[in-house]
Amino acid sequence: MSTLVAQVRACTLCAASLPLPPRPLLQIDAAAKILVAGQAPGRRAHESGIPFDDVSGDRLRAWMGIDREVFCDARRIAIVPMGLCYPGTGRGGDLAPRPECAPAWRARLLAGLPKLQLTLVIGRYALDWHLPQYRGAGVTDAVRDWRRHGSALLPLPHPSPRNQRWLRDHPWFEAEVLPVLRERVAALVS
Ligand code: SF4
Repeated sequence: MSTLVAQVRACTLCAASLPLPPRPLLQIDAAAKILVAGQAPGRRAHESGIPFDDVSGDRLRAWMGIDREVFCDARRIAIVPMGLCYPGTGRGGDLAPRPECAPAWRARLLAGLPKLQLTLVIGRYALDWHLPQYRGAGVTDAVRDWRRHGSALLPLPHPSPRNQRWLRDHPWFEAEVLPVLRERVAALVS
């Protein structure tokens, strides 16, 4: 795993399409039981070098019921977004993860997580990879169907403040899904 991670950290595959020099952000250890499968690092995380080092991360940790110390412990939680480098920002928010990234690295990285018991699938791009049957459907459909995915996969909306309206419009998420998320996370990080 350490050789692969070193290769990833040296990757420049799509550097010409990135707004800043590549800085792949991931957190991975073979002991991790939880995988956070997100979209791509934001600008603030790119600058600090810490995944989810922003308000989206604060909300995600609150949803999971854990603090930063647990969240940043690679032996408990792996963080491997669909695009490992900050892709830039457009008028509607951060751009999509670079399409070169997941085909180049994702399968090999995830193969290094043999103890994985729960994958949190966050947003459209992670959904396409981890629950491809929802391609063409909305993230809302996948989240609403959470009971159908078994105990190892839990789709979530993006925890971005931009999704405040979605949370307001779908109160069942906080009422039904978050208690299950917290229960599963607590059992795996303790
Ligand atoms: S986004 Fe992925 S493919 Fe592109 S430079 Fe970063 S690690 Fe390499």
